[in-house]
Amino acid sequence: MVKTKMEVKNMGIKVERPKEKCNDSNCPFHGSLKCRGRIFTGTIILTNMQKTATVEWEHRYFLRKYERYEKRRSRVKAHNPGCLNAQDGDIVKITECRPLSKTKNFVIVGILGKEKGFKEKMEAQEESKVKKEVKKAEEQTDGAEEEVTV
Ligand SMILES: [Zn+2]
Repeated sequence: MVKTKMEVKNMGIKVERPKEKCNDSNCPFHGSLKCRGRIFTGTIILTNMQKTATVEWEHRYFLRKYERYEKRRSRVKAHNPGCLNAQDGDIVKITECRPLSKTKNFVIVGILGKEKGFKEKMEAQEESKVKKEVKKAEEQTDGAEEEVTV
């Protein structure tokens, strides 16, 4: 049996193959990118870069001194191939690959679904940011007023 060039490769990872095709050379399905190393599952929090997404996931870190866990978050940049085109709030599977740029050495290999309440979570984060900024601005104005009185 002769394999055609456009045939989708078997990566050794159980993921659904994308229905669409793409001409991305850094696509693990249609390009020549090889996947190896660690595999993670996370949520996309930013897709404002070209073919790149920021993926975040939570994990628990054990503190020996207090014999308790603390929540920690990991954030990595991952390549977003055109055939998958994952959006904000998507839960994705990412695999390590060769460095694609200075900060990017992961690639998205599958979309597992949408995170529930992602919009609300992001809105809450934005709100807390705004509140902090308002507080800062208030503090600054307070300082300015003091300077005026002195
Ligand atoms: Zn592709």
